Amino acid sequence: MCIFCEIIKGNIPSKKVYEDDKVLAILDISQITKGHTLVLPKKHFDNFLDIDEEYSNAVFNAARKVTKMINNAYKPLGFNIINNCGETAGQSVMHFHVHVVPRYNKEDLVMQHADNSNKFDLDSIVKDIKG
Ligand code: AMP
Ligand code: ZN
Repeated sequence: MCIFCEIIKGNIPSKKVYEDDKVLAILDISQITKGHTLVLPKKHFDNFLDIDEEYSNAVFNAARKVTKMINNAYKPLGFNIINNCGETAGQSVMHFHVHVVPRYNKEDLVMQHADNSNKFDLDSIVKDIKG
């Protein structure tokens, strides 16, 4: 059972902020900040590697609209638009979704990362990725 598919079917309650034929946007049950919203395709895709172009376009277009709606409501100082792809990257619900997180100050969401900038040869990485 996929919890987001159940929400889309209406079998589990949610707080809808936006809906169209392909997309549903709901408040995250665990608000990182006030207005934190999840934007989901109404068709199930596991993650960003899996989603097709049609639904990916629909989700990101809706995420842009939702960001503007939250901006009008709360006038935050910024936003993070986040997708966690895969368990290692922090994905806990395996139905593709984009987080729209309004930011009111620099401390309300801390994203840490290693600084590996000296370790890698950028030209060889470009070759690896482009194939
Ligand atoms: P992620 O960790 O990127 O997969 O994000 C999953 C998000 O779904 C988390 O931020 C959860 O708080 C949220 N979530 C889980 N269950 C529900 C639910 N029933 N309604 C709304 N949000 C949920
Ligand atoms: Zn699903």
